[in-house]
Amino acid sequence: MIETQCLCGEVSLQISGEPMAQVYCHCSDCQIAQGAAYVVNSVYPAEAVKVVSGEPVKMAVKGTPRLRCASCGIALFTEVAAAGLRSLNAYLLPKGSVAPQLHIHCADAVMPIVDSLPHYARLPASFGGDDECVEW
Ligand SMILES: [Zn+2]
Ligand SMILES: [Zn+2]
Repeated sequence: MIETQCLCGEVSLQISGEPMAQVYCHCSDCQIAQGAAYVVNSVYPAEAVKVVSGEPVKMAVKGTPRLRCASCGIALFTEVAAAGLRSLNAYLLPKGSVAPQLHIHCADAVMPIVDSLPHYARLPASFGGDDECVEW
């Protein structure tokens, strides 16, 4: 069990169990929502990520609700309701517990990030995607 908080401490989250996956996401939603070329997400079954204090606000980018702290604005998690998942901002986890295994939505990438991990154009089959990879 991990307890973590937003920067101002108003919202606390409790994370149970191990992530199903940790990913570098290059989708255009993450880019515009976070103002970053790509983000690091830790993906859990929705019930494993609980809000224990505070009331996160929903922001929708292309329809996928992204929850933030109303006071400090920190991105907390994305609600992937159709798949029953919550995709946590991995920077909220303790240092040393983040080791992404794959890159997703590379078709939207700002620039190639070359490493030894798989680079899916959209999503792997295990996430309901088409398993196609990009050249880099
Ligand atoms: Zn906050
Ligand atoms: Zn994304």
